[in-house]
Parts: sequence; structure tokens; C-alpha cells
Amino acid sequence: MLRDNFCGTVKVLADNKSTGVIKPNRIAIVPFRSTLTHRNPDPGKFYYRRRRIKLPSFCRRHTLSSSVNTFCDLPFNKIKVAASGEVTMCCFQSGTLGNLMKSSFSDIWESNAAKLIRRATEAGELHEMCTGWGGCPFLCKPRVNQPVTFEPAYPTQIELDLPNTHCNIGGTSPTPETACFMCPRSIPDFIADVDITLEIAKKLSFLMPTLTDLRIQGLSELFWKDRVFEVLETLGFEQYKHQCHFSAYSNAIVFNTPQQTRFIDACPDSRLFFSIDAVTHETYIKVRRLPAFDRVIANIKEFAKNKKDGQHFEIANNINMVNLHEAVPMVDLAADLGAEGVQFNPTHDGGTGRVDLHNVQVNESNYQEFARVQDLIIERGHQRQIPVILTRPLALHYPDMAKVGAIENNPQSRWKKLLNLIAK
Ligand code: SF4
Repeated sequence: MLRDNFCGTVKVLADNKSTGVIKPNRIAIVPFRSTLTHRNPDPGKFYYRRRRIKLPSFCRRHTLSSSVNTFCDLPFNKIKVAASGEVTMCCFQSGTLGNLMKSSFSDIWESNAAKLIRRATEAGELHEMCTGWGGCPFLCKPRVNQPVTFEPAYPTQIELDLPNTHCNIGGTSPTPETACFMCPRSIPDFIADVDITLEIAKKLSFLMPTLTDLRIQGLSELFWKDRVFEVLETLGFEQYKHQCHFSAYSNAIVFNTPQQTRFIDACPDSRLFFSIDAVTHETYIKVRRLPAFDRVIANIKEFAKNKKDGQHFEIANNINMVNLHEAVPMVDLAADLGAEGVQFNPTHDGGTGRVDLHNVQVNESNYQEFARVQDLIIERGHQRQIPVILTRPLALHYPDMAKVGAIENNPQSRWKKLLNLIAK
């Protein structure tokens, strides 16, 4: 039997009801926030689940949980911390709410910018930080409001970036020849991040007791040199590993037996997204620069065999003209590996304006081919009974641009023109 108490959404176990007060670190059950994420912001799907948490003492001063009708829950529930300490609410936002190394957490979470973004989102609009570099999925997807509950005083989801120097493909000093061709690490004037990850993790560790989702990300490979375990230790994750869902993208090249054994113990509630981007050696080496396709497949098969209940994985594919012809077999490969889903995301320049990517990305002259392939992979997903997750439409906004004539009539300002049309 459960009883309402404390922050409105927190339910106290029946044996607490005589006191009517939750002591710090008592076990309680809280509703899980929407699993809507920036990687899969499907506005039609909101999930709720319950988790056992240990309440920290700082919770006692918090007021009631709030609820809101919104098409995107991230401004209410999440912070994304870049390797430099700059904070946003998701990786598609531009600008910053503040820097964790310079400002207090509450100054950032309750900043004017944060409030304005929440207000705009609640009104069904995209704040200018959300339209910034053009990556927000809601620029191309319908914005459908759903009820979301949240804690006004703190986020329940954290995404933490590792520095851009921490990737096994191209190493600490990547070049255009050694990094994946579409990765921002492959630009000739690559600027290395200063590695302050552990200092940032220390500053975030106080949020662990109420955290429901932790993602380690960035232009990086978390399993390289055991880095993920170092970060988890600094956060104090071990104590909360049964109540906090962990997720990450990995290229799976160094995800060998010792790494897997350690990970299976460290993150019992987890979802890994293995980024492969190819189904053949030839294409793999064009993208990843390394002859590691067989090793990746072997590592994923081993993990599929040994992982425990509560541990899930999907296959992720970044799609461009180099691998578009393999998109349909990518669905087959994911199904054959036993993945729970297969993701597709069109290659983008991350707002960098890289001209060298223009011809391999979806663009004004090839978007119809990307749209055609999207139909085929959806059909293949139905046939193989595996969910196909489109982070964004493969043809991006180009069909809409064609509709309003922005491609043909005004190529110079087409992006701004489209944003003005769809951001309202
Ligand atoms: S950029 Fe898009 S996905 Fe990110 S918080 Fe804004 S509306 Fe949500």
C-alpha cells in the first residue's frame, strides 16, 4: 500500500505513514519521468515507471512537483553538460545557460534563460536556443503536447560529455585522415578540449540521489581506457546503480570481454547504442578508418549473449551518401544481432557549416533519395519485427522547403526562411 506524502509525487511506503515525514535516505518510490529523450523525441510516446530511491537531505526543502503540458520535456527535466562545463538542456540547443565551473548549479538551473526556454516550450514554441544550429528534431516533427511531471528544483536526467580528445578512432590528436569523416573531430583545425571531466563529475555528484537517467556522451568513446568507470566512480554511481538508468553511444571497438564484464556489473539498468554505420568491411573502413568491422560484430554478439535482464542495446547508424545503399541491410544486421531497435540519423554538420560534408549529407539535390530509403527501412523493420527509430527524418526539412519554394527561390536564405516558417 502506498500513501501520498512529501513532494506530491513521492509515495511513501506504508510503514512510514505513522510518522508522516520522510527522513533523508529512507527508501521511497517515485514516478519516473517521461523517457522522452533528445535522441528519440517521439511526442506520441510517454512512459512512466517507478523506481526505488534514497532521498537526500536536500530534498526536504523542495516544494511540490509540478506538471506541464509540453511537446518536449527536456527543458524541465534535463541538463546536458559539455566537456567545458557549459550547460544546456539537450545537445540540439545552441548557446549556454551558464558554466558549472563558474556558476552554482542552482544559478544555472534557475537562470532567466532557462526560464524563458521553459516558457516558450510550454507555449508550444521553439526558443531561439532550440532553433540555434538547426538540429532540434521538432524542427521537422510535429509538436504534440503531453503531460509531464517534473521537479522544479533539480533535473532528473543528466547528459555529460567526455572531452573531444577521448576517442579511440583518431586518438587524442585526430586528423581528417584518422577520425571518422563526418565527425567534428575530423576538421583540419581541430581544437582539443581541456579535460576537466572529473571536476565536473564531482560537482554533479550531489544530484545522484534523485537522478533517474545518466548518459555519458560527447565526441568520444566511453570504453576507451576505462574512462566510463572512472567517471561513474567520481559520480558515486555504484550506490545508485539500481535506481538510475544509464545510457551511452559506443563504437564497440574496444568493448571487449573485460570491459563488458565490468560494465554488466556497474550498470544493471542500462541501454547501449552501438554505432556501426555500415554492414560491410568496405563501407566500414570508409567511415571509421579502421579495419575493425569483424571485431565490432564479435563484441556485440558477446554482449548480447552475456548481458543481464535490464540491460538493453540498439544499433545506431549515421546515414549519408557513403552508406545510404546499406541502410536496408542495416535493419537486417540489427535484427540478426538481437538488438531491441535500430536507429537512423542523417549526417549533419552540427552547425559547424562544414562545406566538405555538403555533398555526402542529405541536401537539396538528393533528399528525395533519402526519403525513398526511409520508406524502405521502415518497411524492412516491419518485416523483421524490429523497431526503426528515426532520430530525425532522413530527408530532414527538405520536403518542407520544397513545399514552400525555399529551395528553388532563395537558396542563400533558405534555412532562415524555413526556421521562421516552422519555429512559430
Ligand atoms: S532543442 Fe528541441 S529537443 Fe532540445 S530542448 Fe529544445 S525543443 Fe527539446
